[in-house]
Amino acid sequence: SKNHNDVAISMYNRSMTEKIENNVAMEQKIRTALDEDYLYFVLQPQYDTKTKKLRGFEALVRMKDEQGNHISPNLFIPIAEKTGLITRIDIWVIRNAMLFFKNILAVSDTKATLSVNISVLHLLSANFLDEIKQLLDETGFPPNQLEIEITESVFIFSMSKAIETLTELKKMGLHVSLDDFGTGYSSLSYLSKLPIDMIKIDKCFIDELLPGEAGKKYVAAIISIGHILNFSVISEGVESQEQLDILTSLGSDYIQGYIWGKPMLPSDAAKLLGITEEV
Ligand code: C2E
Ligand code: CA
Ligand code: CA
Ligand code: CA
Repeated sequence: SKNHNDVAISMYNRSMTEKIENNVAMEQKIRTALDEDYLYFVLQPQYDTKTKKLRGFEALVRMKDEQGNHISPNLFIPIAEKTGLITRIDIWVIRNAMLFFKNILAVSDTKATLSVNISVLHLLSANFLDEIKQLLDETGFPPNQLEIEITESVFIFSMSKAIETLTELKKMGLHVSLDDFGTGYSSLSYLSKLPIDMIKIDKCFIDELLPGEAGKKYVAAIISIGHILNFSVISEGVESQEQLDILTSLGSDYIQGYIWGKPMLPSDAAKLLGITEEV
């Protein structure tokens, strides 16, 4: 009936309006966090599966609002991407994580890597390579200990520009890792052309590694493809011994997940590296 439709339409409008209002409020929170220093970062360790040795850390951004409440990246990263604020967040994280790691390197000869997430929009922006060069100059950070994590969507957006930019990064000595692998558009023909060093198997595949065989074949296939193309393979979101055992037998080179290390404050990461001084 007409009545029914009216109700449906007004509910639709209301939820649309609420969504837009929420987005505007979130955008404001992000701006405030950037301006007032309510951002910080945590570091999650990555380990060599066989030797169990530390490979390095992934830097992950964290945000608080004015009341000091934590806001999940899953809530603010999408808004930051829509509004372009992600570029400022990425740069904030890279600079601060590099500065922290540089202090570590002053007191340690660790070869641990630092991985940072770069959003599609940011990687494809005109200034990106200059920004990275400038940060390397400013911090004196060793390029071969810096790794850039990108997602497959960057290649859907602009394959040639993405390949060009990543090739430059590789020339500078950085590592490149393909994040959330398997969730986006992947074709074998383009995968072999990409100037990357490593693929990160998305957590959604690792979640399926339960007792029994069902989920195992996909992960086995991804690891095989990665190795055929000469990429290293890291599995993320590993939580259980069962998953770890399967990934070990399938030959996942590296492991990142709660089973061996949750994202931690930089001071705890320093301790994990055996550093006893204040950094
Ligand atoms: P991501 O890059 O795929 O990061 C991995 C996410 O999985 C992180 O969530 C991490 O805390 C979580 N994780 C790792 N191991 C486990 C596990 O064993 N179990 C469970 N349940 N979760 C695990 P987080 O920190 O909430 O970040 C979410 C997403 O936000 C990231 O996904 C990334 O896409 C984005 N993000 C975070 N920091 C940045 C940043 O500085 N720049 C950009 N552009 N994106 C970022
Ligand atoms: Ca990542
Ligand atoms: Ca990921
Ligand atoms: Ca993810």
